[in-house]
Amino acid sequence: MKRETIAIHFGYDGDPTTQAVAVPIYQTVAFEFESAEHGAALFNLDVKGNIYTRIGNPTNTVLEKRVAALEGGVEALSVSSGMAAIEYSLINIAEAGTNVVSTPQLYGATYTLLAHIFPKRGIEGRFAKTDHPDDIAKLIDDNTRAVYCESVGNPAGNVADIEGLAKVAHERGVPLIVDNTVATPILLRPFEHGADVVVHSMTKFMGGHGTSLGGMIVDSGKFPWRQYPKKFYMFNVPEIAYHGVIYVDHFGDAAYVARCRTVCQRNTGATLSPFNGFLLLQGVETMALRVERHVENARKVAEFLRDHPSVAWVNYAGFPDSPLYPMAQRYLGSQRCSLLTFGVKGGFEAGRKCFDGFKLFKRMVNMGDAKSLSCHPASTTHRQLTPEEQVKVGVTPEMIRLSVGIEHIDDILADLSQALDKATITMQEVRHGAAN
Ligand code: PLP
Repeated sequence: MKRETIAIHFGYDGDPTTQAVAVPIYQTVAFEFESAEHGAALFNLDVKGNIYTRIGNPTNTVLEKRVAALEGGVEALSVSSGMAAIEYSLINIAEAGTNVVSTPQLYGATYTLLAHIFPKRGIEGRFAKTDHPDDIAKLIDDNTRAVYCESVGNPAGNVADIEGLAKVAHERGVPLIVDNTVATPILLRPFEHGADVVVHSMTKFMGGHGTSLGGMIVDSGKFPWRQYPKKFYMFNVPEIAYHGVIYVDHFGDAAYVARCRTVCQRNTGATLSPFNGFLLLQGVETMALRVERHVENARKVAEFLRDHPSVAWVNYAGFPDSPLYPMAQRYLGSQRCSLLTFGVKGGFEAGRKCFDGFKLFKRMVNMGDAKSLSCHPASTTHRQLTPEEQVKVGVTPEMIRLSVGIEHIDDILADLSQALDKATITMQEVRHGAAN
């Protein structure tokens, strides 16, 4: 099946009891055992079935199968948020005394997790100087348990060299974990380029309507955990936290995600609610169409902004003179993501005026919604940083980030136009010394 068809049908062939065509919401905490023997067989993982929603639920199972198929993986685990997915994907293999090597520009909370939270647990987050695989390779040592990157960075829009990163990671016997939230499997499938694990914030383009938080961890099934019995002992020796199961023996190529479910999720509990699983499934069904429209609208917005006299710069990987262009061309082909940043002439005050002037674009810190969304990092998400720190993380005072929605393009451009007019008035004020 093609991705558009997988997104609508995969993993569900009608409810066996009711013949319901839409995936039912199995809003239940637990599932009844036929007998003590049946319960024991379920717990021993000898038979397939449902036990307790913290470790699995039939609504979420459909979502897991569908996203695994969309990414071309063997198995997936749904969790309560994108951050829970990132946390689990790493603590499944990294523990005190080990390290994770990452590209430098990451989504803010992921950066904080690696830079400030993990070190308190004895796991070092190492950030390479640049995205280049050579810089990543320099930081990998015997204690490295994963290389981490975003396929398309938020907010910078930088496209990772997944093949290059996978090569340096595999040469040193570690997996490459890729956050594919911004690209989605409609635009890019990291497993086709050598990635071993993909994580998602389902909250964004997958759900697509800004209604539900969710996360997903997808296992390619390709990383040879058996080859590294010491480094990745957790898959190769009896698991004390789960009935002594040996994951590579019991689950074969799905060992990684099976342990994620039965150890990480079972014992720390960041579970996706079945209701959110249902809402996310509705989003996934239309994702391919939405992404197509997001991409097309974003291209028109980028071109409009580039030609507007009040705009100082536009960061969009679709322009051939953009430093992001060659890598975007290699991994996204002719498509581009719908996240872009731009700067209004006139600095912070002009940026703020433009942002405040939006009528259609919602002012918020989400992305990937059907609605057009805007964010002014200098006055919101990065307000607590000094101007020097803001520049270091790539935020300038006038920068506005757009997540271009799927409304009619004429309405989107009209809103940008009227908001930029307000910022232009500010520039005149600046010239006349009237701005404070
Ligand atoms: N990864 C990326 C690239 C994100 O942009 C975000 C949130 O914005 C996350 C992960 C975290 O996702 P969630 O908000 O679902 O925890």
